[in-house]
Amino acid sequence: MNTYDVIVVGAGNGGLASGALIAKAGYKTLVLEKHNLPGGCATSFVRGRFEFEAALHELCHESTDENADSVRRIFEELGADMDLAYDDTLFRAVVPGENGYDVTIPTGYDGFLDAMEAAVPGCRDSVKKLLDLNEIVDAGQAYMDSVNVPVKFFGEYADFMRVGSHSAEEVMIDLGIPEKARQILCTYWGYLGMPTDDLNALHYISLLAAFAKVPPSMPHHRSHYLSLSLVNALQKYGGEIRYNTEVTKFLYNGSGACIGVVAGGEVIYAKKIVSNIIPNNVWNRSDPKFVPASHRKLANARKLGMTFVTVYLGLDASMEELGIRDYSVFIMNDADPRKQFEHKDGVRTFVVNCLNKVLPESSPAGTCTLFFTIMYMPGEMPETLRPQDYKKFKNEIAEEYIRRYEETVGVSVRDHIEEIVVATPVTFARYLGTPDGAIYGYASQTWDNVVARTVMKDLENKVPNLYFCGGHGLRGDGYPSAYITGAMTARDVIKALKEGK
Ligand SMILES: Cc1cc2nc3c(=O)[nH]c(=O)nc-3n(C[C@H](O)[C@H](O)[C@H](O)COP(=O)(O)OP(=O)(O)OC[C@H]3O[C@@H](n4cnc5c(N)ncnc54)[C@H](O)[C@@H]3O)c2cc1C
Repeated sequence: MNTYDVIVVGAGNGGLASGALIAKAGYKTLVLEKHNLPGGCATSFVRGRFEFEAALHELCHESTDENADSVRRIFEELGADMDLAYDDTLFRAVVPGENGYDVTIPTGYDGFLDAMEAAVPGCRDSVKKLLDLNEIVDAGQAYMDSVNVPVKFFGEYADFMRVGSHSAEEVMIDLGIPEKARQILCTYWGYLGMPTDDLNALHYISLLAAFAKVPPSMPHHRSHYLSLSLVNALQKYGGEIRYNTEVTKFLYNGSGACIGVVAGGEVIYAKKIVSNIIPNNVWNRSDPKFVPASHRKLANARKLGMTFVTVYLGLDASMEELGIRDYSVFIMNDADPRKQFEHKDGVRTFVVNCLNKVLPESSPAGTCTLFFTIMYMPGEMPETLRPQDYKKFKNEIAEEYIRRYEETVGVSVRDHIEEIVVATPVTFARYLGTPDGAIYGYASQTWDNVVARTVMKDLENKVPNLYFCGGHGLRGDGYPSAYITGAMTARDVIKALKEGK
């Protein structure tokens, strides 16, 4: 019979980390991936003489606490190579206009604080208090990851709970950080998909402080290299991966326990099933009588995280020739993160990355690439858009945001475009299969934060043998969260298998 110890559905970051660690523990593991290559979001694609990074702006190693999970430790545990290059700046943030600003924040704790002080005199101490809070966040997170029922939250880790019950904005106000400094510090909200007045403080502080302490990195050969590295680890430990194999059905026994899947028309059984795909799509592929009402309600109650329109440009001149100086430029039409998110003026916040700044050899000599990321929320694609107008829609967005970039940064790129590719939420919906093309799983809102998700995990999970990992999981979106939840799920699965549960 076609039987495994563990089936992992989806070879995204979470699925690959989980599958490789379970295989390393000696269990017969099968990863099923609907595409012909691994990685999900973590991939690259080629047009003409350019290999474009599909998703990664910057890889955050996440925790700096030696006891906590981090991307680096997971790769090390698997003997998987990362081959990273580091940038020396975090971001350049530009808000054009009279009350705007143009600030570049370097990496490194002291450099970060110095740049903030130069931009907003008098803010250093309060910003330092914010970054220092990360020690509490890291320690609480490490404790939470290490136990099933976090009883010490009301004593030893009370400050962690206090921080975790507020939005990032509330914590910054409470620390006395001046408004302009808060606005600059909130530049990264788009990476987590919610404006900072509705974004859980734990998640934001952890991202910001980790970036301030450990420089953001990029793999030398795009994220595809990281994904291949995890596939190699999976196979090295005896795991199997099947491509072009879409899971169309999840199977259950009479007691409602998950026992297998239908994939590529074949029935495959396993003791444990790990889903790297969003719960909505698991329930859509399950007989409704096996889907507990609470799971359906939870999937509907959660808000889907952000999605993007992305524009990838291959340019026939080098970044030096074009006068491009920065790796990451965030361009916002208003300094207020809530207004950026709502974009009532019709102008969205966008980020432009030039990978050649970090990796000069990432495109042929005498060329460079630009990667535009324009923020959209699921459901924001115009409902009346007809297939025959789709190309025009993409061209208009590319045209508008290339113009805004040229005007804001003072460079001229349009005459040098050799290759252009535009992806929209429709592209992401088709490629990843997520509702409305959501790429960030469920939004990490104040009510649905990492603590609530972790504490409720065992209570909420009513389907025996079925586990989840990925950007839609406990830790929220992003590469680190997906790898880390992959590792956490692997631990749960291995423990249950060892105990014969
Ligand atoms: C344009 C863009 C920019 C981003 N920038 C960053 C960034 O700078 N930093 C950062 O940390 N994060 C970033 N992210 C987010 C990050 O990529 C994701 O949060 C993370 O990669 C999600 O990983 P995942 O494990 O949830 O898997 P996913 O990437 O969602 O992969 C799921 C996999 O499952 C497969 N699959 C789906 N359905 C089935 C099925 N029925 N059967 C079999 N296989 C199936 C898919 O093909 C896919 O391979 C970005 C994402 C995008 C798209």
